[in-house]
Amino acid sequence: MAVSLTGTDLHLAFGTNKVLRGVDLHVDAGDTVTVIGPSGSGKSTLLRVLNRLHEPDQGDVLLDGKSVLKDNPDKLRQRIGMVFQHFNLFPHKTVVDNIALGPRKLKGMSKDEARSLALEQLELVGLANKADSRPGNLSGGQQQRVAIARALAMKPEVMFFDEATSALDPELVKGVLALMADLAKGGMTMVVVTHEMGFAREVSDTVLFMDHGSVVETGKPDQLFDKPETERLQQFLSQVL
Ligand code: ADP
Ligand code: MG
Repeated sequence: MAVSLTGTDLHLAFGTNKVLRGVDLHVDAGDTVTVIGPSGSGKSTLLRVLNRLHEPDQGDVLLDGKSVLKDNPDKLRQRIGMVFQHFNLFPHKTVVDNIALGPRKLKGMSKDEARSLALEQLELVGLANKADSRPGNLSGGQQQRVAIARALAMKPEVMFFDEATSALDPELVKGVLALMADLAKGGMTMVVVTHEMGFAREVSDTVLFMDHGSVVETGKPDQLFDKPETERLQQFLSQVL
């Protein structure tokens, strides 16, 4: 069920701003790649090119070894679940309805089917007891777990996380990271953009350090964190660790 994800020689410019300058990334099926790097280095743009919210100027994106650049972008986005810093749940809908919405609208599920799927996903993220609450009555960490459940309800083959814990109060970060670690261990193919270096070291199979639109270093977490080869990564780590 798990698939691999590959980006090859990805380029993207906004006007004269070259935001991606030939990025290569490969995630084996069931692996987790963590992307670290300073603000503005192109991490979010990389995720957006990989799920075709932006079309690359050059390069290819492959799922399971097959190019997806000619596929219908909406179909592709159903294969890749995405969790952002701001979870954007619908405030007037209950938690369970927020999760059931995608499967109903995009997969044509009946109301009952979608509700039972949503309840299953809520169980997985430990929030079954919040099914009929409004998002506003949940903590930020709980809301983010609902957002993860919402993404998982679409049965994605790959999950992207873009600074999923950056907007959370410090005491709420751990629960969300633990859930992400569980997903990773459960064999989900994941790309995680994060400032949580503990997570990057403990959970990822590969870490990718980006700066100015390029991958400056990539390798196993121990290698990158303990023996950074470039001055740029050494400098970055000295600022964030
Ligand atoms: P990061 O996620 O690493 O902080 P981003 O990918 O958000 O970096 O941004 C990289 C660069 O791309 C920045 O210079 C940013 O201003 C620019 N950028 C991002 N998205 C857009 C856009 N939609 N239009 C124009 N410029 C953009
Ligand atoms: Mg970003």
